[in-house]
Amino acid sequence: MSAAPKVWTREAAVTEKRNVWTALKRGFRGRCPRCGEGKLFRAFLKVDDHCSVCELDFTPHRADDLPAYLVIVIVGHIVVPTILWIETDFSPSVPLQLVIYLPFTLVLSLLLLQPVKGAVVGVQWALRMHGFDENNPEQ
Ligand SMILES: [Zn+2]
Repeated sequence: MSAAPKVWTREAAVTEKRNVWTALKRGFRGRCPRCGEGKLFRAFLKVDDHCSVCELDFTPHRADDLPAYLVIVIVGHIVVPTILWIETDFSPSVPLQLVIYLPFTLVLSLLLLQPVKGAVVGVQWALRMHGFDENNPEQ
């Protein structure tokens, strides 16, 4: 066991270039952020253990609740202005509005959850967050 203290700087580490925007887009499409070919998910919101093409380990991701929060923000910014516009211009009955808006909100949220989670995992990988930094001496 070495007595020398671990000295680690980001500049000293050998690093591959990771493009945040490319990784975000690949994750949004449900693909591996590194190779863009392997599948990121093994179920609706279950991130696979590793990429089937490039063997990238996906287990260090920590998406947690962020995808749900982002979906709420995105869907809210679509649904609320639409409701206000329809209400001020057409003023349909409340039951009719509920029959349209509630399923629309639910379906839009479910459609966006997996892509947004994939994008979050892609950004985490590109920014070397959590366990995605291969040069972190603490792992
Ligand atoms: Zn891959």
